[in-house]
Amino acid sequence: MIDINFKNISIESIDLPVGGKRKLSVSVLRADLLHPIISGNKWFKLRFYIEQAKTFSAIATFGGAYSNHMVATAAACNMYGLKGICIVRGEEPSVYSPSLLQAKALGMQLIFVSRKDFEDKEVIKQAYRSKNWFWINEGGYGIEGANGASTLHDYINPHNTHIICATGTGTTFAGLIKKALPHQTVIGINVLKGNTSIIDEINNLLTKEEQLKKYSMLHEYHFGGYAKHPKELIDFMNLFWKATSIPSDIVYTGKLFYAVNHLVAQDFFTEHSKLIVIHSGGLQGNYSLPNGILHF
Ligand SMILES: *Cc1c(COP(=O)(O)O)cnc(C)c1O
Repeated sequence: MIDINFKNISIESIDLPVGGKRKLSVSVLRADLLHPIISGNKWFKLRFYIEQAKTFSAIATFGGAYSNHMVATAAACNMYGLKGICIVRGEEPSVYSPSLLQAKALGMQLIFVSRKDFEDKEVIKQAYRSKNWFWINEGGYGIEGANGASTLHDYINPHNTHIICATGTGTTFAGLIKKALPHQTVIGINVLKGNTSIIDEINNLLTKEEQLKKYSMLHEYHFGGYAKHPKELIDFMNLFWKATSIPSDIVYTGKLFYAVNHLVAQDFFTEHSKLIVIHSGGLQGNYSLPNGILHF
């Protein structure tokens, strides 16, 4: 049912829609090509958790009704013959979101809890402590998640000077920092608004030495907050598709590519920089849009 092939991942050089010739190169790591529904980075974040979970009776995790992490966990469990469970934020909806439908179709058991109860994960875990479940944090956040995501760096050409990714929990960003070479700067585009604790959460995933590496998080490209998608973003995603034939999503990668284009337009990068942008997938996030808004 699920067919994941790491050979599908490729690197493409692109010309950004930004006008004028600049002396730098931009390429995209197409981790989105791993699978149409499973976000590329989610799969990488899960790989070491799955190894550890094999002796447990099930993998249990947390997510909202639109969680890419939930779907990726469902798919991973399905592939490895493990039982998957997701504690879902909010009461059971009368109409399931595409992500809930997908997770269910992959055999995942969904347990809906109120938004209030969802806030205290420890209490939830306690309630199921008699079960032999392997718990994975919401979004796959954690050291093992970062170590899994760090293997994305194996696809990156050593000559790249800047590695740029979209960040939610920051786990993927932390993983890329772990493997970054001394001449490489890792830049995270924060898709959330006002979560200032993100840097602490990232530092918790890094050793003291790794914290000395070159990285920065940019907070100006959230477009109003998580999953917010004003017309300016949609217009850019259509423009980017026209220029590159690369689809993006409203939650993560649309904001990522917008940011890269904007930064290049402002001459943020020095001449001869070699940028690699991580396309982390997430295209199913666009299912919630009415038809015809996006040109792809
Ligand atoms: C979850 C997700 C991210 C964010 O990853 P984090 O490791 O949580 O920062 C980025 N892009 C896509 C497409 C995602 O689904």
